[in-house]
Amino acid sequence: MEAIRNKNILAHRYLAGISKEKWSMAHDGGWRRGVMTTNMSECLNSVLKGARRLPISAIVHLTLLRCVQYFIERVAKGQRMVQENQLWSDYACRKYEEWARKSSEHRVVKYDVRTQTASVATGGRPSRGQHIQVVRLSTSDCSCGKWTIFGIPCSHVICTAKYHSLDPTTLVQSWYNISNYLAAYEGRFEPLADERYWDPPTFELHHNPVRRERRRAGRDTTTRVRNEMDRPMVRERQRRAQ
Ligand SMILES: [Zn+2]
Repeated sequence: MEAIRNKNILAHRYLAGISKEKWSMAHDGGWRRGVMTTNMSECLNSVLKGARRLPISAIVHLTLLRCVQYFIERVAKGQRMVQENQLWSDYACRKYEEWARKSSEHRVVKYDVRTQTASVATGGRPSRGQHIQVVRLSTSDCSCGKWTIFGIPCSHVICTAKYHSLDPTTLVQSWYNISNYLAAYEGRFEPLADERYWDPPTFELHHNPVRRERRRAGRDTTTRVRNEMDRPMVRERQRRAQ
């Protein structure tokens, strides 16, 4: 917090008013495992690309249709994973298989049965050098940090588990299970009634003049999908440029 205060006092005041677990991975108790950015809105942007500069009713319809489509695709993906007898989601399978392969390059050099703590030597690849990682099975922790961040045993943990005759697949967190994957997408979307039957709005819409200012050339490149509503603006820009 001190470093933030030195950089920007206003930012420090703003953040000091919000509990740390809401904006810092170091204080959130492990809830945002594997999420290396707090900008989750980007995930929504990828689903809703193109749903902007449209009339409100069109945005509502498009948002609903895109979300329904997203859920349909995910359910189909989940069913495919069930048919292929996968234990976990594709993401978790890829990570686990990669680290299981890598674990064959490691060896346990020291193991304390009492504390279930192991020292694991890496070094299968000459270019990467040899390192020692410390695995504590009793507290589900490895000094490399991956087990804590991803909820999937890293190569050092897999190596230690095998050394200890423990099945490493039991160390993967349950939220990667296919049943939980499918449960995340079992929600229902109610059909949207025709606009004429919507409740009357309790607010008024106003244009924001700042948002309508012309952008300076060469800035703010965008990958957004252009639609019908963009065309008059493009023509206006071309007219002014002449
Ligand atoms: Zn590790």
